[in-house]
Amino acid sequence: MLGFGILNVAISSYAFGAAAALAWRSPKWRFRFVAILGLVATAAIFAFAVAAILGAGPVLHVEYDGKSYAFTHVLITVPALLMVLQVERARREEVTQAFEYQAMHDSLTGLPNRAKFTETLTNALSEAARNDSRVAVFLLDLDRFKDINDTLGHAVGDILLQELANRLSHNIPKHAMLARFGGDEFALVLSDVLDADTAKTFASFVLSEIQHPFVVDDIILEVGGSIGISIFPEHGSSCDELLQHADIAMYAAKRDHLGYQLYSPEEDPHSVRTLTLTADLRRAIKLNELDLAFQPKVDVQTGEMVGAEVLARWRQPGQEHVCPDEFIPHAEQTGLIYPLTKWVLNAALERASEWRQAGRDIELAVNLSARLLHHSAILATVVSILRKWDYPPERLTLEITENAILIDPKHAMEMVAQFADLGIKVSIDDFGTGYSSLAYLKTLAAREVKIDKSFVLGMHENESDRTIVKSVIALAHDLGLTVVAEGIERMETWAILEAYGCDGGQGFHFGRPMAASSFEHCFRLTAASAPDEPAGTASLRSADVVTLSPKMLPVSPNRDEIPLIPASAKKR
Ligand code: C2E
Ligand code: CA
Ligand code: CA
Repeated sequence: MLGFGILNVAISSYAFGAAAALAWRSPKWRFRFVAILGLVATAAIFAFAVAAILGAGPVLHVEYDGKSYAFTHVLITVPALLMVLQVERARREEVTQAFEYQAMHDSLTGLPNRAKFTETLTNALSEAARNDSRVAVFLLDLDRFKDINDTLGHAVGDILLQELANRLSHNIPKHAMLARFGGDEFALVLSDVLDADTAKTFASFVLSEIQHPFVVDDIILEVGGSIGISIFPEHGSSCDELLQHADIAMYAAKRDHLGYQLYSPEEDPHSVRTLTLTADLRRAIKLNELDLAFQPKVDVQTGEMVGAEVLARWRQPGQEHVCPDEFIPHAEQTGLIYPLTKWVLNAALERASEWRQAGRDIELAVNLSARLLHHSAILATVVSILRKWDYPPERLTLEITENAILIDPKHAMEMVAQFADLGIKVSIDDFGTGYSSLAYLKTLAAREVKIDKSFVLGMHENESDRTIVKSVIALAHDLGLTVVAEGIERMETWAILEAYGCDGGQGFHFGRPMAASSFEHCFRLTAASAPDEPAGTASLRSADVVTLSPKMLPVSPNRDEIPLIPASAKKR
């Protein structure tokens, strides 16, 4: 009896201890509940057992074969054993779950790790395949994180990563999942994505969250990030493929300082399309297979044609035209943009010098990609081509996109200043698509802003576009910059821009990009219609302009090059 009592005390004490530990440590209420039950039960059993040892408790006997057996202790021992088993089971389950949690989560931030991410993504992909919906995968890599680690130490770096994980996981929507892959690399998955724009908006939201400064140890830290996006099913059907493509896009975003970038096969250095396009484009430049299109630029106030923007065209022998929106970014990514621009500048100035010799002084605008601002030879190349064709630098405009300037403002400022010193006019292209202020651009020594066509195309029916354009024109003028509007497709737009005091204009209303011969032809025609004007100042002015019909102009095999000099340039 005493032996049973002592056994009971031992078992119930153990069960009590295990249950107490479980109740204390367990993060899960399910386990806590078992543990608390265990605590109560084992406490009762313990009390019973002690009472039995002291002979204070009720002692039940059974009579068997003339002998009397006390079985109170058996009654106590059985539930005590069951309780121990139950508590042990709960504890083991908790340990297993803790192991599983560790295997699926990042220890520093507590976020899901790559394994968990892959599991979630696999499930999301199967569901999306069933529902015919889209899933977007985002790979985020922090910019400048290494600097923070190197200068402030890993402890600060770790706190920063924790804060960032905390901030992001609290602010992303419920159907998104954030994971850490290690180092400063994070991944997100977003289900039920409508289209690429939704994914881009989400990426820009994530970036804006990261860009708010972090305060670690009273130090204000600013980090940026680069995000690569891939979308199921367009960019891949498996986890691996989507992650690999998001990774390619992330590197492109980082390299070009774009913030985020959607995967595109053209940028994928390993895709078959990219490999053949690169080889073909390289050959086309070398073999002089590229072509130029000239799009008229006019003086909005007078209707005079003052020059042209030169645009590159490429048609592979026996094939369709490759769209500049495809081959230009491709050239930028593969480094072919330097030989391409060199070719464009050379061919354009060769033409212009022919026209100048014939007495027509044409002002030309050539596009200069962001990447070329970092090319060591670009300045010397421009100077040598200007000299080669004896073309006055003042008649050349280089159009540099607003985003190109924002990528590396300090360097852009130096380059623009050097072009300005040479007398070359720099125009800020696609103005309004970035986030720079005009006042800032003014410090760049740029002389012209070119309002992006996205604001101009719908001006005739969209009041907010009109307000933006009007304000940009007024402010630019206050700062001493001239303003060109691109994308003028309608007479009404021209009239509104004229009323706002806009200086220059370009758009299908005045003419589509056209072959050199077509451009020369319409130039000659318009000049001929105004004989008292100096040669070369072709005018699209109302009364004295011949009404041109496309039939009067050389037929171009290229739809893009069909010259559409205004059916009636009559504005007033
Ligand atoms: P961009 O510099 O903004 O060139 C203007 C684009 O707007 C041209 O497209 C032109 O056809 C189009 N456009 C002009 N007027 C109108 C209009 O009234 N309505 C509409 N809807 N569109 C109009 P394009 O020729 O397809 O060129 C696309 C882009 O390719 C250019 O945009 C430029 O960024 C790039 N690009 C073309 N040639 C070169 C080049 O030689 N070098 C570089 N770096 N980029 C080039
Ligand atoms: Ca341009
Ligand atoms: Ca533009």
